[in-house]
Amino acid sequence: MSNILKNKIYDISVEIGKEHVDFPGDTEYDRNLILNSEDSFCNLSKIEMSCHTGTHLDVPYHFYTKGKTLNHYKVEDFIFHVHVIEIMNPNAITVEDVAWDRVKPGDGVLFKTRNSRDGLVKSAKYVPDYVYLTPEAAKKACDIGTSVIGIDYITIEKSDDDKFPSHLEVLGNEVIIVEAINLESIPEGEYTLMCLPLKFNGAEASPVRAILIEV
Ligand SMILES: [Zn+2]
Repeated sequence: MSNILKNKIYDISVEIGKEHVDFPGDTEYDRNLILNSEDSFCNLSKIEMSCHTGTHLDVPYHFYTKGKTLNHYKVEDFIFHVHVIEIMNPNAITVEDVAWDRVKPGDGVLFKTRNSRDGLVKSAKYVPDYVYLTPEAAKKACDIGTSVIGIDYITIEKSDDDKFPSHLEVLGNEVIIVEAINLESIPEGEYTLMCLPLKFNGAEASPVRAILIEV
């Protein structure tokens, strides 16, 4: 058990196949052994999943035909200085709920809500009454020059909003979104966020192993 970084590391990823919540209508995660070491020479799994399964990030191509895909980024573009900001509003993250003055241009914001406190993000079951990010708060975050916006549920969007205004606002400003992060044990404060996507050519999203490193 080594931690060459010395600083404390928190794993904020949900466990795929056990904790993750499938978004209704999206491909459900499935993993099967297609070779089994009892009958064959090794264990070999096949997975079926969405690019948005579990803890993952979205880039502009998700909603914009001409938007950036994952291969338009360098790996260092997925390492951020972030603020974990706790939101007590039980319904939504609004402009008024956030102390924006602590966020400097280029910083990221990760919102810790009751989605983490009550275990919704790791419940393996979709519920529609999660805490979402209002389009106004999304715009405010973009206006102050934030680099990444993270939320502790499978989407930042309100459950019944099929116009996706928060996604359009954030991705239209070329800000990266990280969804389904579990912040239950994370104190408010500043961290280094590392969330490295798989190197999918042309993709709009990828699962990530997201970690916070104390600064
Ligand atoms: Zn997504």
